[in-house]
Amino acid sequence: MPRLTQAPNIALAAFWADVLSQAGIAASVQRYFLGSLAGEMPPDQCLPEVWISDPGDEPRARALLKTLQNRPQYRWNCLCGETVEGGFDGCWNCGVDRPQAG
Ligand SMILES: [Zn+2]
Repeated sequence: MPRLTQAPNIALAAFWADVLSQAGIAASVQRYFLGSLAGEMPPDQCLPEVWISDPGDEPRARALLKTLQNRPQYRWNCLCGETVEGGFDGCWNCGVDRPQAG
């Protein structure tokens, strides 16, 4: 099972895995569990990773990922208190859309 990429945070990793899955590419997020060990591990050992099940899907998965990563990046604060990063138009916590003003 090849590692596809490393994500800057778990929400983005989960989002990428979700998009890959919807495209028919079996993907999973690894290293959820290292959160409590942060500080004892080198930073690059603590980031979540996206893995895919079938190596044959890798070229398609990488192309899809590149498209996702080229989305405009912005962060905004949702009314529920969540800070939403990575160019999302909706809050992953409560599901509301990004306010257009500001
Ligand atoms: Zn929210």
